[in-house]
Amino acid sequence: MTEPQWLEAWTAEDGARRVDELFTRSFDGPPEGVWSAPGRVNLIGEHTDYNAGLCLPTALPHRTYIALRPREDDQVRLVSAQAEGVWEARLSDVAPGAVRGWGAYVAGVAWALAEAGHKIGGFDAAVDSCVPFGAGLSSSAALEAAAAVALDAVAGLGLAASDAGRAELVEASRRAENEIAGAPTGGLDQSASLRCREGYALLLDFRPGLNPLESGVPVPFDLATAGLTLLVVDTRAEHSHVDGEYGARRATCEQAAKLLGLDSLREIAPTLGGMGIDRALAELEPHDPDGVLRRRVRHVVSEIDRTARFADLVREGRAADVGPFMLASHTSLRDDYEVSCRELDLVVDSAMAAGALGARMTGGGFGGSAIALVRLADVDMVAQVVAEAFAEAHLTPPAFLLAPPSAPAA
Ligand code: ADP
Ligand code: MG
Repeated sequence: MTEPQWLEAWTAEDGARRVDELFTRSFDGPPEGVWSAPGRVNLIGEHTDYNAGLCLPTALPHRTYIALRPREDDQVRLVSAQAEGVWEARLSDVAPGAVRGWGAYVAGVAWALAEAGHKIGGFDAAVDSCVPFGAGLSSSAALEAAAAVALDAVAGLGLAASDAGRAELVEASRRAENEIAGAPTGGLDQSASLRCREGYALLLDFRPGLNPLESGVPVPFDLATAGLTLLVVDTRAEHSHVDGEYGARRATCEQAAKLLGLDSLREIAPTLGGMGIDRALAELEPHDPDGVLRRRVRHVVSEIDRTARFADLVREGRAADVGPFMLASHTSLRDDYEVSCRELDLVVDSAMAAGALGARMTGGGFGGSAIALVRLADVDMVAQVVAEAFAEAHLTPPAFLLAPPSAPAA
């Protein structure tokens, strides 16, 4: 029998102790403080953020911890329990295309805050994390968000104290990832890590020009009372073409919107008052001999609608009824958007066979993680069945995480 491997979240005390010790060992003397930020899991709404659509993430109990101390000069020195050596740069040298390596995610936040007009000096920082890397659970956003709240505190900006201020930290974190680390992500991850709330999902609307109250609406997501839990399965699958495929999907969506004379594909979604999918597909047909364009559009538009309806059910306290939306989302991502893979499909199929109420891939796809909504009483059994399915298929054993909706960066 194959035992499922569980990835437990650290307690706040444990995480703080780890980075405090790492900092003190690396930089003589204690840090000024310790901050942390969660990874995230997206319940539904995949590949919708860059189409000005909707998505619905929650924060994980798994967090990235940072211990930080400001410096008198403009040097940045960083160590991580997950990386070798010391990452070093002068803040004045940080610019798009100018720095490499993992430190770009941290120094990039400092750069973006400075670009936004805040006075940010150099600092030393130590990082440690129980968020798995590259698992689609946003270890990169957890790192940025932890750095953002830490810099916010030591520079006395006060942005973390309000949701509107947090929206500014989201923007700085997103710019760090896009412009300094060079990863073209759409803002979902940073919003989730900085703006989710314990016990809530966050309905994000990426329509340009919305104020923070409109762009991120907390939706009570009480799974425990419903006798349910969210199981996350990190497939540990590695697929090398992820970035290229992501860029290609974005480009296709932009092309389709342009052909339709729209700013974004959200303008098609009927739940948001759009023209409706049938008319959009008919208009695209002459430009789309192989049907790829229409399948991509059908995913994005149907996913926006599913996200709106999923959020409505959750709001009504009907979390147990969202399973069919999760499955429909997975099918759409697999067949129309073509971003699933064998391992993600195997999690979904085996979890459903073991009695999950719903399951789907989460995150960008081509590996990473899948989620399953399961009854609390069934969770060990479902994990067992999934682990055995992977063993039978001779795949790398997956890792399992429990994901109650958790607290934001602090
Ligand atoms: P994901 O966000 O899905 O985990 P990404 O590729 O976006 O995957 O981000 C992973 C990258 O973020 C790592 O390769 C590393 O550069 C950086 N990173 C995240 N967490 C840490 C950490 N604790 N220490 C050092 N680097 C980290
Ligand atoms: Mg990431």
